[in-house]
Amino acid sequence: MEMAKIGATPKGGVCRVALTEEDREGRDLFIKWCVAIDCNIEIDQMGNIFARRHGKDNTAPAVMIGSHLDSQPTGGKYDGVLGVLAGLEVLETLYEANIMTDVPLEIVSWTNEEGARFSPAMIASGVFSGDFSLDYAYGRTDKEGKTLGEALTEIGYKGKKELGNRPYKATFELHIEQGPILEAEQKSVGIVTGVQGIRWYDLVLNGKETHAGPSPMNFRQDAMQALSKLLPKMYALAQTYGPDARVTIGYIDAVPGVRNTVPGSVSVSVDIRHPLEKTLMKMHQDLEAMVALENKAHQGSAQLQEVWYSPPVRFAALCVEAVRNAAKKLAIPSMEMVSGAGHDAVYISKVAPTSMIFIPCTDGLSHNELEHVEKQDVINGSNVLLQAVLEMSNENVFRNKEVSPNV
Ligand SMILES: [Zn+2]
Repeated sequence: MEMAKIGATPKGGVCRVALTEEDREGRDLFIKWCVAIDCNIEIDQMGNIFARRHGKDNTAPAVMIGSHLDSQPTGGKYDGVLGVLAGLEVLETLYEANIMTDVPLEIVSWTNEEGARFSPAMIASGVFSGDFSLDYAYGRTDKEGKTLGEALTEIGYKGKKELGNRPYKATFELHIEQGPILEAEQKSVGIVTGVQGIRWYDLVLNGKETHAGPSPMNFRQDAMQALSKLLPKMYALAQTYGPDARVTIGYIDAVPGVRNTVPGSVSVSVDIRHPLEKTLMKMHQDLEAMVALENKAHQGSAQLQEVWYSPPVRFAALCVEAVRNAAKKLAIPSMEMVSGAGHDAVYISKVAPTSMIFIPCTDGLSHNELEHVEKQDVINGSNVLLQAVLEMSNENVFRNKEVSPNV
């Protein structure tokens, strides 16, 4: 609630867009809290903040807890912030209980996760994982033409530390679900096993423009009618490939787009998703096959072009297991699930063993000022995070029952 005062909006949300004055204030406050529990602070060249707590062996790879402090312009109090501050709570708990883990612990706040000001989203964790170059990231511009590099310098957070220069034993990200499943299933914690794969397409169907009156139905080459036959087949992919499959036709554009002219062409966006690469590939092949069939029936009238592919992510079994164990040990109602949204953890999982913990948000609402969470779920999620972090950072912790603090 202290953090949410910075950039607070009248409707109860937060406007703390990346690399603004509010973002700087939020970062300063977070660092102040970390320093109070003897954390060592480092800022890297992308402005990512690393708050490090020493372990018994400081040469060993650390266990990382990461998320983001930036928000959407009309964002909520919890998206991202929850994961960073739950990390702080974990470190505070260990500090107060005077427990030193075997390996160091680090909380990381990633710059510009939302992508609201500088596109693409998750750019700083993407530079960390080597998916984007530093120069590419510095050159991204906002609507006013200011570059991300300039904005970093302006708020005093262009650090010196090189990106991705040390290994991690494990990383965890606690986040609100941003969807309705946990609430509907009455579970307090989601054990996130991976992130859906996504394939995007542009589909164009061609016909012949003609007058809506004089042309009998059986004389037409109507692109819209062709689409109307294809749509049920596309949606049927979701049924064929089970409850984890998603099919979204979000956009239809008819040309010439006139009431009394049979459309000569129709352009459609297609978004298909599935957590398993093999299944997503089958959906892709089925889609290609139905478009090929359409072409056969109407002499090359359909073109399907893939425009983006983001492969499914499967989180590290060890980290997922640590979260599962923690929920079980604490007897917290939980379920396994796959994330439908992207997160910093997607990029980090490419360079370190990673998994995520979800907690429910009311009505699945997020990227909204009314975003809300229940206190008990925050406590449960943070306790699961604490126990998962302890399991990965201290070999003996589960053998010694006394060393089991709660947040
Ligand atoms: Zn987020």
